Amino acid sequence: MGVSDAPAAPETESSKAARRRLRKQPPPDPAPLAGLIDAHTHLAACGGRDPESVRAIVDHAASVGVRAVVTVADDIVDARWAHRAAQWDDRVYAAVAIHPTHAGELDDATRAEIEEMAAADRVVAVGETGLDYYWIGRSDTCATKEQQYEAFAWHIDLAKRLRKPLMIHNRDADADLLDVLAAEGAPESVIMHCFSGDRNVARECIDRGYLLSFSGTVTFANSDELRVAAALVPDDQLLVETDAPFLTPHPYRGQPNQSYCLPYTARHIAETRGIGEAELAEIVGANARRVYGIPLR
Ligand SMILES: [Zn+2]
Ligand SMILES: [Zn+2]
Repeated sequence: MGVSDAPAAPETESSKAARRRLRKQPPPDPAPLAGLIDAHTHLAACGGRDPESVRAIVDHAASVGVRAVVTVADDIVDARWAHRAAQWDDRVYAAVAIHPTHAGELDDATRAEIEEMAAADRVVAVGETGLDYYWIGRSDTCATKEQQYEAFAWHIDLAKRLRKPLMIHNRDADADLLDVLAAEGAPESVIMHCFSGDRNVARECIDRGYLLSFSGTVTFANSDELRVAAALVPDDQLLVETDAPFLTPHPYRGQPNQSYCLPYTARHIAETRGIGEAELAEIVGANARRVYGIPLR
């Protein structure tokens, strides 16, 4: 009789305590999955401060096959840091923008500075920008809808002028976000970071040629609709990301996330699509290199 056929032992107090202890332990590293690129992470929020701490994070990621990461800025201070961090290590690339929740901070001086940084070689995307309705009314500092539209439109135009990909943040704003993109005219490459829509939003994005980037949320037990979306995406429009330190994939949901956790998400998507994990890694790695212009080393 195989282990899996054994009747489940009744849960005792000590087995509950053991499970709690297990959850508190740091996750073991996933088995390596070569050629992955973390399409969206936040190295500073993961503990990156200086060249040494950044190198430690990307070394750890490289040990499980993650060969490059794109670190994304939320505000102007973060953008300056991401722009610098991309010079420290040739496995680190940056994306700069003012996050929709901070859209009220986008004055003329900030625009000029973001524009200058976004034009730099190792800054491979304009983002994250878009719309976030979740925090309106929940946070006193969140920008209004009007401020978010204005900032989003400005970032769309910037991506088009620089011919760089636009990295989209969307929270609870599916319809308006797609309307603004259509009205302003999308740049050549649009990345829907941490895709969170249903199958209809996925189909609309696919029809428009956008890339859909899936985070650890696709591994969560309650994410059936997201798995349907992940199975729908054509090979050349699929990306994977951690959005670390947030959204740690199952089985370590709730613990701090880092780029080395990316193979968990990639494997889950390979299973969802019914393909081998090495094939999936090859597909998403090639897409990230193409869309961000990351050389094959
Ligand atoms: Zn985001
Ligand atoms: Zn993010």
